[in-house]
Amino acid sequence: MRVHLCGVRGSTPAPGPDYLRYGGQTSCVAIAHDGPGRPVLVLDAGTGLRRVTPLLRGSPFAGTILLTHLHWDHVHGLPFFTGGDRDDARVTLLLPAQPDRASAVEVLARGMSPPHFPITPEGLRGHWRFGTIEPGQLKAEGFTVEAREIPHKGGRTFGYRVSDGRSSLAYLPDHCPTELGPGPEGWGVYHPAALDLAADVDVLIHDAFLLPEEVPALAAFGHAAADYAVQLGRLAGARRVLLAHHKPDRTDAELDRLGRRLARTVPEVVVAAEGEILEL
Ligand SMILES: [Zn+2]
Ligand SMILES: [Zn+2]
Repeated sequence: MRVHLCGVRGSTPAPGPDYLRYGGQTSCVAIAHDGPGRPVLVLDAGTGLRRVTPLLRGSPFAGTILLTHLHWDHVHGLPFFTGGDRDDARVTLLLPAQPDRASAVEVLARGMSPPHFPITPEGLRGHWRFGTIEPGQLKAEGFTVEAREIPHKGGRTFGYRVSDGRSSLAYLPDHCPTELGPGPEGWGVYHPAALDLAADVDVLIHDAFLLPEEVPALAAFGHAAADYAVQLGRLAGARRVLLAHHKPDRTDAELDRLGRRLARTVPEVVVAAEGEILEL
């Protein structure tokens, strides 16, 4: 599979000269099958979703968008996805089933409808189908997807494992493992849902919002330390760990330092940068 990192920033976009190399768009990963094909599976619809349109090379989007959760940084790109907002688009959008049993359109419309925004989800052009999912396995666009519930803050959140039968990727952009306890280093618990999703994957894309020294003061915002992500990858047997969902004020220079400090060969550790393409 081919994986396009379209947005690797967390919480809110980070424009400006200090954020050029790692990028300022929020969470979005687009996945294509091997070969020259266009992306058909998109994980999260942060502002990085705008970068998916050029990858479609003029064609309408025909595929599935899976949301990990409904926070702004994971949905704000939705109405600006011109490749999906056109008459000939065919989009399935799936999100975690909500505890109050609200439909997918209802829950999306709480943030995307007047007076918050000019249109509702149903105002997007093309053929859109909205649905909710429970943890478990599903098939989407020729990929096998495993969904598991992941501790975060403020809303039900899933992590995903995506496989095409040859290669696999785990995606946990928002994860608060300290919610389950301090764990061995104080960075949080290495719990079965996270370990299962990341087991033996080719690449684990994981929340690296925090530095270890920030955990005591900031873990209450619902995120993980970069060092937790690396250790989770090691324990789960992931071949590569991509540190992602960067704190909005984490500059390029600081992310360079983070990458140098955590550089290792097994698992390989890379600081995710917007625009990168991974061939798995
Ligand atoms: Zn987020
Ligand atoms: Zn979140």
